[in-house]
Amino acid sequence: GIVIIGSLNMDMVVRTSRAPEAGETLFGQAFALSPGGKGANQAAAAARLGAEVTMIGRVGKDGFGRELLEVMRQEGVHTDYIGQSETQATGVASIVVDEEGENRIIVVPGANLEMGREDIAALEPVIRQAEMVVMQLETDLSMCEQAASMAHSHGIPVILNPAPARVLTDELLQHVAYLTPNETEAGILAGMAVNSIADAEQAARLLLQKGVENIIVTLGSKGALIVNHAGSRHIPGFPVQAVDTVAAGDSFNGALAYQLTSGKTLTEAVRFANAVGALAVGKQGAIPSLPQLAEVEQFLKE
Ligand code: ADP
Repeated sequence: GIVIIGSLNMDMVVRTSRAPEAGETLFGQAFALSPGGKGANQAAAAARLGAEVTMIGRVGKDGFGRELLEVMRQEGVHTDYIGQSETQATGVASIVVDEEGENRIIVVPGANLEMGREDIAALEPVIRQAEMVVMQLETDLSMCEQAASMAHSHGIPVILNPAPARVLTDELLQHVAYLTPNETEAGILAGMAVNSIADAEQAARLLLQKGVENIIVTLGSKGALIVNHAGSRHIPGFPVQAVDTVAAGDSFNGALAYQLTSGKTLTEAVRFANAVGALAVGKQGAIPSLPQLAEVEQFLKE
């Protein structure tokens, strides 16, 4: 199965025609509470497609935490290793979505940051049984480093979705089989501006030199770019009407993990993940927008 180590947050989503300027107050159109967090989204995405998913994470002993645990169970994710913090509140994300479907997000990680290296050490028996380990960066970075190193030492491929972007050590990058930045994150990781597919390729080449095996730069509506030692390949996206880009990248990563652990080639997996991403941006919400396997198969036939 797939082990996903990551964040669980309650998303507080406000819909507005435009985002407010500093000091400005606006009336928005709608408000919703919706379970999210990159880890939880990716776990739900892979589970909806049919993958066996174990989530490692932490929530608070509060209403949001109980709700997130319940949602993960309903999605069929194994929740035995989602701990409950004694002192920290469940993570929250404040999300503003404008008319164009663009989002602006502030995350307050709370309990997510409590998970540390000792927790990973204690969970070695769980991690070493994984076919693949998936992580993001809404948790403690040294915990991620420890988990990547442990997975790598057991020969388990690691997908690292470097979001939100931060500077990473070469040692961490050397333990990553699949790095999946979007264009902004690729730019920050490589220390250059990424405004085109050509820029994305240049940034990915820099990261390849640092020891990542495969870089998959997600390009929004343009799909994704695969860069590895065999070369570069642009896999075009699927045209859809974007309603809400929340969880596009998360659905992509969950789908990628599902496909790679189902024996698909990287090219096949990225094409499928593009379809899942397109379906997710066509619906509102994070977890509620994630497609089931049958929907993706139907979409790929059309
Ligand atoms: P993030 O959400 O992390 O910023 P992207 O915007 O690159 O990441 O989206 C991730 C993936 O979702 C893309 O690689 C693509 O497959 C799909 N996707 C995102 N936006 C669109 C869109 N407007 N139309 C079609 N597919 C999209």
